[in-house]
Amino acid sequence: MAWEVVIGLECHVQLKTESKMFCGCPNAFGAEPNTNVCPVCLGLPGALPRTNRVAIGHALLLGSALGCRVRAESVFARKHYFYPDMPKNYQISQYDRPLCEGGELAIERDGVRTGIALTRIHCEEDAGKSFHPERHGDRRLSRVDFNRAGVPLLELVTEPVLRSPAECAAFLTALRRLVRWLGISDGDMEKGQLRCDANVSLRPAGSTPLGTKTELKNLNTIKGVERGVAAEIARQAGILDGGGRVTQATLLFDADRDRLALMRTKEQAHDYRYFPDPDLPVLRVSEALRAEARNATPELPWAREARFRDVLQLPAYDAAVLTESRELSDYVEACAPEGQHKLASNWLMTEVLRWTKERGVSVEEWSARVPAERFRDFLARVASRELPGPIAKQVFAWLPEEDGGVAALLERHGVKVASGEATLRPLVRAVLAEHAAVVAQVLAGEERPFGFLVGQVMKKSGGQAVPQEVQRLLREELAERARS
Ligand SMILES: [Zn+2]
Repeated sequence: MAWEVVIGLECHVQLKTESKMFCGCPNAFGAEPNTNVCPVCLGLPGALPRTNRVAIGHALLLGSALGCRVRAESVFARKHYFYPDMPKNYQISQYDRPLCEGGELAIERDGVRTGIALTRIHCEEDAGKSFHPERHGDRRLSRVDFNRAGVPLLELVTEPVLRSPAECAAFLTALRRLVRWLGISDGDMEKGQLRCDANVSLRPAGSTPLGTKTELKNLNTIKGVERGVAAEIARQAGILDGGGRVTQATLLFDADRDRLALMRTKEQAHDYRYFPDPDLPVLRVSEALRAEARNATPELPWAREARFRDVLQLPAYDAAVLTESRELSDYVEACAPEGQHKLASNWLMTEVLRWTKERGVSVEEWSARVPAERFRDFLARVASRELPGPIAKQVFAWLPEEDGGVAALLERHGVKVASGEATLRPLVRAVLAEHAAVVAQVLAGEERPFGFLVGQVMKKSGGQAVPQEVQRLLREELAERARS
């Protein structure tokens, strides 16, 4: 039988904030274990949580970017379950009144954009981390680090509208690009800053009721999501094709061995015994706060990509690469001289990205050394042909290594550039004056002596002029003489 795949994703985004969700401990990755802790995030009796305003601002920004409805009043709830790395034995999350509902995130595949509907986005806290087992002599030990306990998380839940492993990968890729773009998370999957669970079920193609779903936990790479979901689809199809029934369960995908493992049979929602957290007030979001988030929402990456392609006329490939990060695309806009976006794109896509790649650094490293205005001046001189090709490459190499503008760099290195109209026109006029007979031949319609004139100007410039520029100026001057 033909099966239709139905997938919903639950994505967790760790927010970039100074402090944790409900206490003042630093939200920092990689600190000594159990150093970023306090009575609140250790769940000690009598310690009271307070909501992190910055984290809520980040959530509102994401909600605004995705067109969600924001609740004026949302509620933090306790979600009870036992994890050794969760000292309170409950997690502060949101349940029936989440901060954001609805909205969508568009994915693009083969040039087609599809809006993936969202159910909700809510705020919660992360759990700590267990490490196990370790051997100490004949004992096996587990260790727990509470530094991550209480770190702000957003959980973003999609409707069950995804239809393939590739769509899941595209969704996560788009989400990562967006949270980085908004500056609310680094979205580094290797550090667990973006992770996702997938609910997967199959139903006979064309039927409406949903089949029994399973949940794949802790998919923490984009490839892992794609391969894990594909493996689960194949497993369920095998069971159904054999006339069996899928059992509701939670599974783990072992990316190294490309294998699924049963984790537990699924708890029902009521097992969590949700109730509003009595220690936290209702979260009130004023209209002013919502307006603040709307106003702070920048042009989104896909909108900028479309503008780069359609308005600035950059090739689709360039537009996609240059809008991968907001820093890079801001830099492109700031450094491109008027009407020279293609030129700026060429230099960025080849030379600048090669420079960053060779050094394993980010675009910020480049822009710290070569601020956009400085690069703009360089590009303007390339555009006006004041810097011929080989010299432009040489100047480019000096830019990140040395201080000063283009003129200062050329002077420091003793490079004379006989190019640019102001320098070249006198040379052109001198050549025309020296070779009156040849000029007469060209004016009479002969094309061959023109090359001789170009050669003479090149010679006068010491080989530094750009031939195209010399030709243009010669034609101008000859046209002038033809008229008089
Ligand atoms: Zn704390």
